Amino acid sequence: MQVIKTKKELQIKINEAKLEGKKIGFVPTMGALHQGHLSLIKRARNENDIVVCSIFVNPVQFNNQEDLKTYPRSLEQDAAFIKPYVDYVFAPEVEEMYPEKPTETFDFETLETVMEGQYRPGHFKGVAVVVSRLFTMVQPNNAYFGEKDFQQLAIIQKMVKMLKMSVNIVPCEIIREQNGLAMSSRNRRLSAKGFEYASLIYKTLSKSKMLKHIKIEEVKQFVIQEIEKDSIFEVEYFEMVDAET
Ligand code: AMP
Repeated sequence: MQVIKTKKELQIKINEAKLEGKKIGFVPTMGALHQGHLSLIKRARNENDIVVCSIFVNPVQFNNQEDLKTYPRSLEQDAAFIKPYVDYVFAPEVEEMYPEKPTETFDFETLETVMEGQYRPGHFKGVAVVVSRLFTMVQPNNAYFGEKDFQQLAIIQKMVKMLKMSVNIVPCEIIREQNGLAMSSRNRRLSAKGFEYASLIYKTLSKSKMLKHIKIEEVKQFVIQEIEKDSIFEVEYFEMVDAET
């Protein structure tokens, strides 16, 4: 495994692989890697000849500067963790990805104005900017994305269609902690108590799946009341939506 910091160096490696007719699998991440990321990487390893993992905390997708500042960063540890499964780790500095302010524009219509789009304005445009640039650099045959970030997956699928890119997007199942909480880099910021409380989200969502014979509005009310019952959490939203649109 080799850690690459520049686009130029990456391009040389990708050109080599393409010349040899190798199939490239790509896993974009923001680092602080855990078993959730590893499941994507292992799948990429099984389905491709070359595996590229990018580690880049993308400032353009953060609408909250405090979140950007406190986002966990651990490149050395991350590289050691994924070493057995990856050929190239692409870990550029911000200046390498954005020598100038990005000017790409995307219009994802309602897909970017609801749920995470509503609560994190500009987030998905920032995701599309970085992922489209990474796709152009890595030229993957397959790219792996977790269903944990389901709306992001829908955005990426739409982006690939809009830009007529030939990459195949592979959705990957959610990996969870034993208590049901979805694994996430930001979980490192939870206290032990917060970590336990947070499992209420998954438990409630699982219960809600069993409520098949009541109206959507009633399911919504049930979920919100259940999660807010101990006054530890305040629900921003709970939605039931079409998976593609
Ligand atoms: P991130 O580093 O948070 O940008 O995540 C990089 C990729 O890993 C995204 O496609 C995520 O959806 C995916 N991912 C993160 N956590 C999990 C998880 N617990 N299960 C499955 N995929 C995940």
